[in-house]
Amino acid sequence: MRLQILGSGSSGNAALLQTGSARVLIDAGFSCRRLNELLRGAGTRLEEIDAVFLTHEHGDHSAGLEGLKRHPRIEIFANAATARAVQQKAGREATWRLFETGATFRFRDLEVTSFSVPHDAQEPVGFTFAHGAEGDLFSPRRSLAWLTDLGHAPAHVYGHLRACDVVVVESNHCPVLLEADHRRPWSTKQRISGRHGHLSNTAARELLEATAHAGWRRIFLTHLSRDCNSLAAVEQSFAALRERLGAACDLEIVAPGGGTAAWEW
Ligand SMILES: [Zn+2]
Ligand SMILES: [Zn+2]
Repeated sequence: MRLQILGSGSSGNAALLQTGSARVLIDAGFSCRRLNELLRGAGTRLEEIDAVFLTHEHGDHSAGLEGLKRHPRIEIFANAATARAVQQKAGREATWRLFETGATFRFRDLEVTSFSVPHDAQEPVGFTFAHGAEGDLFSPRRSLAWLTDLGHAPAHVYGHLRACDVVVVESNHCPVLLEADHRRPWSTKQRISGRHGHLSNTAARELLEATAHAGWRRIFLTHLSRDCNSLAAVEQSFAALRERLGAACDLEIVAPGGGTAAWEW
């Protein structure tokens, strides 16, 4: 499996996941033009993408859908509520593939599971993607957990993180910097830090501390707020966990904007 985070943060989120026979995007939160630029940087292009898996309808995850209707070959996977919420953007021309939240299904050589997350959208989800099989010498099982845009982590999320060897989780804001921010009205700050907003550095760390296990190979911290977080704040918050995980599992902080973080396992 190869994961490349193309962009992260409120200006847009998208990642490229590749296996032997699938090349898919997790979210498409950039214009198609920008997505194509980012994909070119990753050595591919939109024409070579097979599918998009949508977590929820917010613009920083779905902005590319408008242009994707010109690429009917690309299958768009979403639950019905999310599909309904973005249908105006994507139109009927798009090739929709609807799934039930909680279901596990196959796409080519990928096993995909969606699970609900608490966030202020219609029916937001996280995903796990798995490839290969346990004990298979040539194609051992590899897996990825994708978890962004959630206000808190319910118990069912824990199992998904423990089941995977690579974890992408949001570490959205530093509570102190959010509190000190003068540009955002109080109501917005309440939304961000609320039960259906985003994980703070502290909440993300506590989640990872509670689920940490020896099988993890790499952790990506993503969806950092540009104004209400900083690389230094995240680094400080995760220093002890980084030490505890040791050399077996690196912890990478993805700076907001067009990212180039990649990992093959
Ligand atoms: Zn988002
Ligand atoms: Zn969102």
